[in-house]
Amino acid sequence: MKLILLGAPGAGKGTQAEILCKKLGIPTISTGNILRAAIKDGTPTGMKAKSFIDAGQLVPDEVIIGIVSERLAQADCAGGYILDGVPRTIAQAEALERSGIAFDAVVSIEISEDEILRRMGGRRVCEACGSSYNVDAVPPRVPGICDNCGGKLIQRRDDTPETVRERLRVYHSETEPLAGYYAQRGLLRTVKSGTPEETTRAILDVLGVEA
Ligand code: AMP
Repeated sequence: MKLILLGAPGAGKGTQAEILCKKLGIPTISTGNILRAAIKDGTPTGMKAKSFIDAGQLVPDEVIIGIVSERLAQADCAGGYILDGVPRTIAQAEALERSGIAFDAVVSIEISEDEILRRMGGRRVCEACGSSYNVDAVPPRVPGICDNCGGKLIQRRDDTPETVRERLRVYHSETEPLAGYYAQRGLLRTVKSGTPEETTRAILDVLGVEA
């Protein structure tokens, strides 16, 4: 299964990618997590990406295309994968298509803007492994500590209200057109974002997968 998760920031792509990755036994490729790890490690890619991320802007397409092609070439991706947060522009989608990468389905997770703003305030991520939580909807077992690796949970620097507003503006202008792009190719499936369990159920339903 080669799957793309589309949706606005805060729609629950990261949470669903983590759940589906365990249920379907395929890796998740999250460009946001890869970039945050690169920033933490101080790599040249991380240094290039940091100012864009902090401003709520998209990292240039050529940087993203490089990261994704390198990651998809690794052995664990041979049996399928879930893309979380990529492609985010038509140029990225076209680059994937040109390199011969085909997808089985593109699932768009729909959510209202009010709900996004509400959720972003409660979002926490593990600074060590990137797992995502929400203090209300997806709390960790021990407050402030990652269930998966014991790392410290932090609020993302780009989850402040004004950066979220900029990310939403960029989402509407750059990423939303991808729904039409994949609809034209007959790949688009749409689900409503609910509780994590409801959203997973809806995604598995549109994919026709029993789990
Ligand atoms: P995310 O964790 O998916 O919300 O991504 C966090 C930030 O990383 C975004 O606001 C962008 O600055 C950058 N980013 C992640 N994925 C991409 C992408 N596919 N294209 C451009 N920028 C990206």
